[in-house]
Amino acid sequence: MHSVDEYSNNVRNMAYARIMDTGKKTSGWKEIIVEARRFSVVPAGCGVDVAMSTSSGSVGALFVPWQVHETRSRTHAAAQEEGKMVSKKPKTESKDQEKGQHVPSKNKKSAEEESPTKSKKLKAEESEPNGKSAVVKEFTEFCKALGEHLSVEEMRKILQANEQDASGPEDAVVSRCEDMMFYGPLEECPVCGSQVEFKGWKYKCTGIYTEWAQCTFSTNNPSRKSGPIEIPDDIKDDYVRKWVKQHEGKKFPKREIDEEGHIFSGMMIALSGRMSRTHGYFKEQIMKHGGKVNNSVLGVTCVVASPGERSQGGSGGFAEALERGTPVVSEDWILDSIEKKKAQPLAAYDIASDVVPEGRGLPLGKLDPSEEAIETIAAEVKLAGKRSVHKDSKLDKDGGSIFEKDGIIYNCAFAVCDIGCEMNQYCIMQLIMVPENRLHLYYKKGPIGHDQMAEERVEDFGSRVNDAIEEFVPFLRWLLEMSSSHGKGKRSLRRRDIGIDVRHGGLALRQMGAAALHCKLDPSVSFLMKQLCGQEIYRYALMEMAQDLPDLPIGMLTDLHLKRAEEMLLEWRQNVESVPESGPAADAFWTEMSNKWFSLFPTTRPYTMRGFEQIADNVASGLETVRDINDASHLIGDVFGSTLDDPLSECYTKLGCSINPVAEDSEDYKMILKYLEKTYEPVKVVDVVYGVSLERIYAVESKAFPPHEKIKNLPNKVLLWCGTRSSNLLRHMHKGFLPAVCHLPVPGYMFGKAIVCSDAAAEAARYGFTAVDRPEGYLVLAVASLGEEITEVTSTPGAEEAEGFEEKKMGVKGVGRKTTDESEHFTWRDGVKVPCGKLVPSMNKNGPLEYNEYAVFDPKQVSICFLVGVKYEEQNMEVVDE
Ligand SMILES: [Zn+2]
Repeated sequence: MHSVDEYSNNVRNMAYARIMDTGKKTSGWKEIIVEARRFSVVPAGCGVDVAMSTSSGSVGALFVPWQVHETRSRTHAAAQEEGKMVSKKPKTESKDQEKGQHVPSKNKKSAEEESPTKSKKLKAEESEPNGKSAVVKEFTEFCKALGEHLSVEEMRKILQANEQDASGPEDAVVSRCEDMMFYGPLEECPVCGSQVEFKGWKYKCTGIYTEWAQCTFSTNNPSRKSGPIEIPDDIKDDYVRKWVKQHEGKKFPKREIDEEGHIFSGMMIALSGRMSRTHGYFKEQIMKHGGKVNNSVLGVTCVVASPGERSQGGSGGFAEALERGTPVVSEDWILDSIEKKKAQPLAAYDIASDVVPEGRGLPLGKLDPSEEAIETIAAEVKLAGKRSVHKDSKLDKDGGSIFEKDGIIYNCAFAVCDIGCEMNQYCIMQLIMVPENRLHLYYKKGPIGHDQMAEERVEDFGSRVNDAIEEFVPFLRWLLEMSSSHGKGKRSLRRRDIGIDVRHGGLALRQMGAAALHCKLDPSVSFLMKQLCGQEIYRYALMEMAQDLPDLPIGMLTDLHLKRAEEMLLEWRQNVESVPESGPAADAFWTEMSNKWFSLFPTTRPYTMRGFEQIADNVASGLETVRDINDASHLIGDVFGSTLDDPLSECYTKLGCSINPVAEDSEDYKMILKYLEKTYEPVKVVDVVYGVSLERIYAVESKAFPPHEKIKNLPNKVLLWCGTRSSNLLRHMHKGFLPAVCHLPVPGYMFGKAIVCSDAAAEAARYGFTAVDRPEGYLVLAVASLGEEITEVTSTPGAEEAEGFEEKKMGVKGVGRKTTDESEHFTWRDGVKVPCGKLVPSMNKNGPLEYNEYAVFDPKQVSICFLVGVKYEEQNMEVVDE
């Protein structure tokens, strides 16, 4: 392993700054690290794959939680309320100097840096209406006097004496002290225990909940301590002492907050062209909510135009804004911001991006889900795996390949999601070697699902290999620290981790014909292989989860990444029991969990998950789906990109599973047809009701699951339906069924770590679709041995009960609200029972399950026998034969 210790902190910090900070000004590397720390490593190519850190301690001393103080654009509280410029800081400073006190030079410097932003912001507020109350007036006067009588250091002491945060830049200290003395000392944040502060027209927590989530607690009416203000003995100032004495025993006044009046505070907005209402109307709305309107595009925050404007070629302002790179947003931005009492992110209302060549328009997450699907389902995968050069670098066309040295593959991808501060970004960094020893650094960072907003650069390092590597070292170091702190410290790249996302490596639609033509397999088997090895079912599955991002190889994660995800799920499963149902602690738990999850599995639509059902749908089932897609990626590899004569047969061989069509006139076929027809019920998807018809049946046998010879000797054997997504099928056939990841008290997971099947084809059919426009699917039939004794449950088992089943490896039958008519059941070969019969109401009318479910805990007790190809047909519609 490359020694990274020899590199100084400085190099690291510089590189952090460069990596995380292109185009954006930040005041220091600490904040950058706070940002960097939350970046999870998605597919990572650095020889190590680190999904995340689980606690601040695990990432080493460098990553102790920092309090990020907003040092820029802090505005003065009193000035905001007064509505005119009260330049307090210079006064306190001169006061300090008069008294000969030391203001740390660092603070001074930051104060100088801040001032331009500050005065600019204050100017924008000069035009505010002056309807302020007596309390506000008194407060303003108090602030003025306080500034004249106290130094910042004294304010820090007073804050400390009243158990308030006394750290941070001068500006923050002054306004914190003013607020505390006039309105009362604030209680700490009820969520994370940090300091609450008046910021952006609300009291907001300044803390970090965990390294994954900024605390999002905010309120208009914070809790305050009731006692009198403590003044340390060494502060002798008469004014302050007198003031405190005067107010002793009196109730603190409540701070009035006109949140709505400041939605557009500090913003300069230009209106362009014809809008749905008059410019006058919009101007009034903007000004009423604290913004300013400008007639020219120069220097404005954004240009507002109607979407119709664009189709007419745009007016002068529109074109100028495009030229200057000023955001052009729709009128909805104004209306939505007012409705939500908060300026909405401009990017979400962008109407100009798709005018720009190669632009893709609105961010995917803002599109209608079906439109998003159209955009992504066939999109080219830009980063397909560890050795894949990002397509946007265009260096693959020059014969570029990912640079490798000393066992390190210089290719990284990260993602971070922090819902609280509306951050959902990814970052990719690669070293690419182009023939003739020209080493390039490719870097891309941007909001997930909004390619137009991404920053990109390609840097030519020529033959300066060490310089290029240095850019990477901080990341390597960081990754290594995180990975080794997880105990294993395995740093060598496992072969398995090098692969290609099946969305890229799988059979593309255009290759279908040729692949089938050259296939030596039985035509019906080659038909199945074509589907299982095609890109489509995997793209479809990821699309459903809004995880089909072209920039991140979700289909080609490392094993470690998946393992982390599983650990994370299990940890939550444990912690969730002690989380209250609602309130700030619950909010914090779910926000943090969602942030972590959507950092690990990036999506265009992150949201705050809540409750077991959403954990089951998104986290548990999401993980299983992605895991199985990754398996398909490994199995298929790059056979379709190679020059093999018969890639489908190649995949079939690798699958290690014999697949044989079952003849239509055979007993087995008839038996299965009967079982399907009896136990199927129309499935309703949105508004359409689907019936089902049998298309074909395959008998399957694999070393991955127990042979019939073994199963037939086990007790209580039943032939059961297993619902599975098509994208999971290849893995099942390759490796057999895997038990559920954990217990969750919802259908599908209520039996704990079990393989769950049903006697109703209707249950299995819920999962069976292969693609949106292709209503075909596969149901699995497996023989399961339920053991000597079968336990029946009629309600949702708790975690402990499920653990008991698991330990004893007993067969469990969850009784559904509907059951199959027992009088029709029959026995198939070797004593295998077929619980085939029409669906009738059971005695368990109020049970949690619709159909009977059977849980088996030992994979050795389940063997996949048949793959049943079905076609879903919309009911009440005539089916025309081809
Ligand atoms: Zn907090």
